[in-house]
Amino acid sequence: MRTSIIGYPRIGAQRDLKFAIEKYFKKETTGEKLEETARALRARHWRQVAAAGIDFIPSNDFSFYDTFLDAAVLFNCVPARYRALGLDERDTYFAMARGYQGAAGDVHALAMKKWFNTNYHYLVPELEDDTEIRLAGRKPFDQYDEAKALGFETRPVLPGPYTFLKLARYTGRKQAADFAEPLLAAYGELLAQFAERNAGWIQFDEPYLVHDQSAEDVAFFTDLYSKLLADKHGLRVLVQTYFGDVRDSYAALTALPVDAIGLDFAEGRKTLELVTGQGFPKDKLLVAGLVNGKNIWRANYAKILDVLEAIAPHAGEVVLGTSCSLLHVPYTLANEPKLAPAEKAYFAFAEEKLAELAELKSLCSAERPRETAAYKANVALWEANRPNSADAAVDARLAKLTPADFTRSPAFGERAAIQASELKLPKFPTTTIGSFPQTADVRANRAAFRKGTKSAAEYDAFNKAETKRCIEQQEKIGLDVLVHGEFERNDMVEFFGEHLAGFRFTSNGWVQSYGTRCVKPPVIWGDVSRRAPMTVDMAVYAQSLSKKPVKGMLTGPVTILNWSFPREDIPIRRSTEQIALAIRDEVLDLEAHGIRIIQIDEAALREKLPLRKSDWHCAYLDWAIPAFRLVHSGVKPGTQIHTHMCYSEFNDIIADIDAMDADVISFEASRADLTILDALAAAHFRTAVGPGVYDIHSPRIPSTDEILGQLRKILQKVDPDKLWVNPDCGLKTRGWAETIPSLENMTQAAKALRSEA
Ligand code: GLN
Ligand code: ZN
Repeated sequence: MRTSIIGYPRIGAQRDLKFAIEKYFKKETTGEKLEETARALRARHWRQVAAAGIDFIPSNDFSFYDTFLDAAVLFNCVPARYRALGLDERDTYFAMARGYQGAAGDVHALAMKKWFNTNYHYLVPELEDDTEIRLAGRKPFDQYDEAKALGFETRPVLPGPYTFLKLARYTGRKQAADFAEPLLAAYGELLAQFAERNAGWIQFDEPYLVHDQSAEDVAFFTDLYSKLLADKHGLRVLVQTYFGDVRDSYAALTALPVDAIGLDFAEGRKTLELVTGQGFPKDKLLVAGLVNGKNIWRANYAKILDVLEAIAPHAGEVVLGTSCSLLHVPYTLANEPKLAPAEKAYFAFAEEKLAELAELKSLCSAERPRETAAYKANVALWEANRPNSADAAVDARLAKLTPADFTRSPAFGERAAIQASELKLPKFPTTTIGSFPQTADVRANRAAFRKGTKSAAEYDAFNKAETKRCIEQQEKIGLDVLVHGEFERNDMVEFFGEHLAGFRFTSNGWVQSYGTRCVKPPVIWGDVSRRAPMTVDMAVYAQSLSKKPVKGMLTGPVTILNWSFPREDIPIRRSTEQIALAIRDEVLDLEAHGIRIIQIDEAALREKLPLRKSDWHCAYLDWAIPAFRLVHSGVKPGTQIHTHMCYSEFNDIIADIDAMDADVISFEASRADLTILDALAAAHFRTAVGPGVYDIHSPRIPSTDEILGQLRKILQKVDPDKLWVNPDCGLKTRGWAETIPSLENMTQAAKALRSEA
C-alpha cells in the first residue's frame, strides 16, 4: 500500500517563514535572504516527508502568503490597480495580499475569505473583464525542479480549474464560463511544461465539489475536465477533494479519464457509502483520506482498517492518505515539553501523522494487521479512559438546563429603550473591536512571564499600565465606548483555553490562519468548566479609569469551540454547551461588578457551518445559536450585549444571527462590497450594527473622507438609530503609528455625520 499527503505546513516548526516575511515587510532583510529561508524550509519539509516514507510527496504547496493567490498570479490574474504600482513581482504579490500605501500608490488588498470550514483564509482572485488569463509564472516549475535537484520526485499541487473559477470574484460582466477557455489553455500549457520535465503526477485540488452542487455545477465541472484531460501530455492526474463528500459529482468524477481521485473519509459523511454503493473504477487510484488532517488526535487504527476492508472489494489500488492538507495542524510534538506524557500519547501533529501513515502502511502489509503490536497499542489507547478528562458536576449542570436558560427577556425593543436611557450614548457611537496593538513590549512581557523571568504580579502590573495608557489614548481620540485593549491575551481563544478547566494548550502548536498570522488553538481535552473569574479584575480596573463605558470582552462558546481542537468522541454540541456555561458565569460576574456593556465575540461562528446547506440547521445552527444565548440570557435589561464576527459571509444566515439576540453586532464589511447591508435590510435585521468602516488587516490609514464616504454608503441601507462606527476587527496586528490616526479619522467622520444629521 502506498501513502500520500495533500500538502504540508509551510510556516516552519518555529514559524521561521512568518518571521522572515515580516522582516522583509519591515525592510530589515532583502528579497534574496527571504528566498533563501524559503528554500531551506522547503528542503527540510521534503526531506521530512520523504524520510517518513511517504510515497507521494507534494510540491508547490509552499507559499509566501497563500496558494490561491499564487495561482491567481500564475494565471496572470493581477488586477490593473496592482500593476499600476509598477512594483517588482514580489512586491506586487504582497500588495495584492495586504494592500499597499507608499510612494507608488495607495491600493486595497484583495478580499480575503475563510477557506471552507477551516480557520485558514485565502485571497480571492479578482477577474476583470479585460483580465487575460495565461500561464504567466514559474513557481510550480521552479519548486518542482528545486525538489528534483535535491533528489525528490514530487507531485505538484495546484487549485483545480473548477474550484479556481468558483471561488474567484468577477468584477465586470464576464462570469466563470467566459474565462474557461483561456484558463484551460493555461492549465494545458502547465501540463505540457511539466511533461517536458518528465514529471509523473500532477494534483488538482477541487474541494469546491464537497459543497451542494447543482446539475449545472456538475456539468460545468465535467466540461472543464473533459477538455483539460483531452490531452494530458502523458502526465498522470490526481483530482483531490477534501472537507466533505462529493455525493453530487461522484458519478461524473469517477467517469473522467483521471488517474487518481482523492476522497475524504474523515469529514465526508457519505464517502464510504458512495464507494461501496457505486463502486470505484479499478483502473484509477483511490487516494483514501483516512488520517484526519484537521485534528490533532492520533488516528484510530481500528476504524481505519474497518474502512479499508470495506472499500477493498470495490476499488483497485487504494493509496492511504490524509483527509486534507496537513496545513491545518501544527508541525510536531517534538517541541511540546509541557504536555504530560500520558496525555501526549493521544496527540499527533503533522510530523506524527506522517509516521502514522507509514505505520499503517507497514501494518497493512502484515498478514494479520490486527495482530501486529502497533495495532494493538493503538487499540489499547482508545479503549483506555483518558486521564483527567471527565467531570460529573459539569454533566449535572447541563442536565438541569431548561428552555428558559436559552432565552433573554425582556424582548429586544424594550431592552433597547432601557439601554438608551441608561447608557446615554451619542448617535453613531464609536468603538473598537477590542484589541489594541500587541507591540514588541507587550509580547516580551508575555514571553518573560511564560519563561518565568517575570512574576505574575510583574506581568499583571505591566498589562495594567498598558491598559491605562490605552484608555487614556482612547479618551484622547474621543471614542464613545472604550475597551481595555486585550494586552494580556495572545489571541482571543488561547487566553480562555488557559483559564478554563478541561483544556490543554501547546507550546508550539501554531497553525497558519492567513499570510504570516498563525494561531495556537487550545485542545479540548475533557469536560470544560470555569475555575475562577478570568477577566473581571482587568475589566473593573479599566472601567475605574474612565467615565465612559468600557466593554467587557469575552469570546463566545461557538468560537472557542471552533478555534480549538475538539474531541472526536464527544459531540461538539456538548462541548460547546459546557463552554457556554463557563462563559455565562463570567458574564454575570462582569455585570455584578458594574460592567454595563459586554462584548461576546463570535468571530468564528460560521466556521463549522456544514458546507452543505441541507445540513446547516439540523447539524449546527439549531444548537450553536442557542448556545450563544445561553451565555447572555441571564443579564439585566440595561446590560448591553455586543457580539462581533469577521470574514463571516453571513448573508445566508441572517435570521440565525438575529436570533443570537445580541443588542449590537460589529462585523467585517470593508474588504468585500456592501451587499451584506442589502441582505440585512431585506431581512428586517433587528440588532444594531457596526459594519467595519475600514480594513485593519492592511497597514494603510483611511482618511476621514474615505470613512465618511463609507458611512454615507452604509446609511443608505441602515437605520441611522442603529448604526455604530468601528473598524472591522481588533487592532492587535497593527502598530500604534497607524492605529491612532486611523481611529482619529474614524471619530472625525462620525462627528461630521452627527453634525449633518
Ligand atoms: N475582540 C477581539 C479583538 O479585538 C476580536 C478578534 C477577532 O474578531 N478575530 O482582537
Ligand atoms: Zn474580527
